[in-house]
Amino acid sequence: MTTVLIISAPSGSGKSTLVNRLMRSDPQLDFSISYTTREPRGAEVNGQQYHYIAREEFEARIAKDEFLEWAQVFGNYYGTHRSYLDRARALGRDLVLDIDVQGARQLKERIPDAVSIFILAPSREILERRLRARSEDRDEVIQRRLTEAAQEIRNFDLYDYVLVNQDVEESVMRLKSIVEAERIRRERVREQIRPILASFGMEQE
Ligand code: 5GP
Repeated sequence: MTTVLIISAPSGSGKSTLVNRLMRSDPQLDFSISYTTREPRGAEVNGQQYHYIAREEFEARIAKDEFLEWAQVFGNYYGTHRSYLDRARALGRDLVLDIDVQGARQLKERIPDAVSIFILAPSREILERRLRARSEDRDEVIQRRLTEAAQEIRNFDLYDYVLVNQDVEESVMRLKSIVEAERIRRERVREQIRPILASFGMEQE
């Protein structure tokens, strides 16, 4: 059985680092590489961080219902292709999605047992400091990102887990704990406990 893990965070919360560390630490996890119409940044490579496609192609794929969810973020389209979930389910692997709040809402409707995690910087000051340290963005861009972060944070109530990212090592450990705990949910271990119950002469209904 596949666990679908949705991870969302305002930019500057340290989400990419945490997701990368989680993916590297657990070979059972697959990452859903989204489709987007935004341009690749810096060292990004098509097919690694995203599949970069034109708006017309994105809209054609929406029309063909290829996306599990899609949304417009900062004026560009972003979407999760169905094939990632189909493949994870066929192989019995778990799937991680790095998507925004709009996408999380859509996916929770489609896959109610998806597990969602919201990552938060410890304070506005720390978020601002992180945004300034990592980018050469002008002041107004940073102010806009802070306003957007405030909008997103408002939606934390949609999520099953909220992780305040104080310290990378601690946050990675917590993320791993969530994944491990979800793997022993009763629904996921039914097949595993069947022979144990059988050894006691019991059957599962
Ligand atoms: P960025 O352009 O900085 O990589 O991502 C911008 C935002 O888009 C992030 O919040 C990211 O989580 C979100 N995002 C990335 N892929 C998807 C997707 O497939 N669907 C949705 N709804 N949001 C996405």
